[in-house]
Amino acid sequence: MALPRLAIGLISFGPGRPLAESLAACARHGIRHVGLTRELVASPGPAEVARILAGEGIAVTGYARAPRIPPTTGPERAQALSEGRRLLDEAATVGARHLIATGGGFDPAVTTLERAWDAFLEGMHALLPDAAACGVEIVIEPLHPMYAGDRGLVFTLARAVEACDVLGLERGLVVDAYHVWWEPGLAEALAAARGRIAEFHICDWRLPTRGPTDRAMIGEGCIDLTGLARRVRAAGFDGPYELELFSSQDWWLRSPDELLTTATRNFAALFAESEDA
Ligand code: ZN
Repeated sequence: MALPRLAIGLISFGPGRPLAESLAACARHGIRHVGLTRELVASPGPAEVARILAGEGIAVTGYARAPRIPPTTGPERAQALSEGRRLLDEAATVGARHLIATGGGFDPAVTTLERAWDAFLEGMHALLPDAAACGVEIVIEPLHPMYAGDRGLVFTLARAVEACDVLGLERGLVVDAYHVWWEPGLAEALAAARGRIAEFHICDWRLPTRGPTDRAMIGEGCIDLTGLARRVRAAGFDGPYELELFSSQDWWLRSPDELLTTATRNFAALFAESEDA
């Protein structure tokens, strides 16, 4: 396997950073892969984003994220599926390989978590033919349980593997260090995920944490990122490791160049030897 490469989830520069500025900074630092969110793409629009990416010679990993699929057969569900199809089209336009699904959320007025889980799987299943038609893979990213109420239904990698099995996805998992580092049985789940990991997201867990947008720069928190990366690679993943840094009180206030200089330095210190370990 080749040495790992650093990719950048562009949200790491903050939600208000113009996308063209972020991509120019990535190009200056030799970054060749980025992850996008629909909010960052919305303002220039997908076609313009594709043009800027081509100009900078940068490829897209994933597009975040698929809509919440409500547990109903009514108009809300039809609307969510229609939005899902639009997002698949956007992902294809910007050249993303994946549309990332995190499970949606929980609506206590109409459902239980288990019913929401069933609805999520049914919704993803309904979108699979559209995904195949536009050449974009739907991939599932488990989120830390702190998101259970509003954004996540898939709390563990083990459950994401289960979702892939139900949906028949051969390669459909996102492993994000921030979300799964704490998971009991993670080694077994990664072994079960062998050959099916589509993306690997990295950041670190700040102590003490001040909340979900308080993630730490790689190498500056308490996650054993080197050990996790070794397991992810042993599970057959050889793509870029994507920094995804939600950091409203720290890194979002700094310049893209400062972030990229630090990330590149810490990345080399953490992962340069990982293939031999
Ligand atoms: Zn992630």
